[in-house]
Amino acid sequence: MKPIDLRSDTVTRPTAGMWEAMRAAELGDDVFGDDPTVNALQRRIAADLGFEAALFMPTGTQSNLCALMSHCQRGDEYLVGQMAHTYRMEGGGAAVLGSIQPQPLLNQADGTLALADIEAAIKPDDAHFARTKLLALENTWGGQVLPLDYIEAATQLAHSRGLAAHLDGARLFNAALASGVPAREITRHFDSVSVCFSKGLGTPAGSALCGSRELIARAHRWRKMAGGAMRQSGVLAAAALYALDHHVARLTQDHAHARALAAGLQGLAGVSVTPPQTNIVFIDLAPEKAHGAVERLRERGVLATGLTKLRLVTHLDVSASDIDRATVILRESL
Ligand SMILES: *Cc1c(COP(=O)(O)O)cnc(C)c1O
Repeated sequence: MKPIDLRSDTVTRPTAGMWEAMRAAELGDDVFGDDPTVNALQRRIAADLGFEAALFMPTGTQSNLCALMSHCQRGDEYLVGQMAHTYRMEGGGAAVLGSIQPQPLLNQADGTLALADIEAAIKPDDAHFARTKLLALENTWGGQVLPLDYIEAATQLAHSRGLAAHLDGARLFNAALASGVPAREITRHFDSVSVCFSKGLGTPAGSALCGSRELIARAHRWRKMAGGAMRQSGVLAAAALYALDHHVARLTQDHAHARALAAGLQGLAGVSVTPPQTNIVFIDLAPEKAHGAVERLRERGVLATGLTKLRLVTHLDVSASDIDRATVILRESL
């Protein structure tokens, strides 16, 4: 039997419709700027999220890196969550490749950075300090939706102190659907936003960075330098366009599957399940339950990640009956 892969929403394969859209895509050479499908995607995502321009990127990591390098010069600083993907999960690229100093701040339990912490971390204009230039937030964060009033307050604070604001919106559409707020109501508070097509939206690869024309022009040069200028990338952009048309609204199914999975795991001794807001379920295991849990699950055909905190992610390639079967296997194995 095919394993139920709950390691990440990145593991999806293109659907038949997506393959068809990719096969039918009109292609050009994007380094010459003449791949019509890439250009259409860039116009589409910029318009959808309320920005002047967008740039198609091979990965979310490169998209965030190019954003940080477009906002900050060598010796500048950005404020970022201690547990944020851009700080913790991207190989330290901002520091290594951008000579940008990260100033990590404690993530509160809901993923926010306390306004007082942001305020206190903004350095005065003094030769002792790096120049604080940017606030970077992430939404969703660990599957949680950042409250809209918080986003408003944090970005207002940043802007009032002369900082720009960047959103790592790898799972922006999950946040929008879970909170019933249109995506552009979230993104309008930011100067740049990175979104992933290869997570819940189900494409094989690809992200987009959105911002002003000027910021995207700078990012375009950094993308070239980082080796991310692709050629007939319309074949991937076609998948992203297809996903924007067909795979956004259905994210609510992934959220419902995550809730069903969490509900099905209630009441097990030594197992504590956090009710999910979107498509990521976290399960805290008592030490005696945690030992070898991932291996036991794999033997039974359920793939997960984590040690004492298991992470289970629902997506396009997980059906309601997969969730039922996974719930039974998880209950028996834990
Ligand atoms: C996946 C992800 C990214 C980008 O990851 P890539 O694998 O480089 O596409 C960035 N931020 C968050 C929060 C993510 O989950």
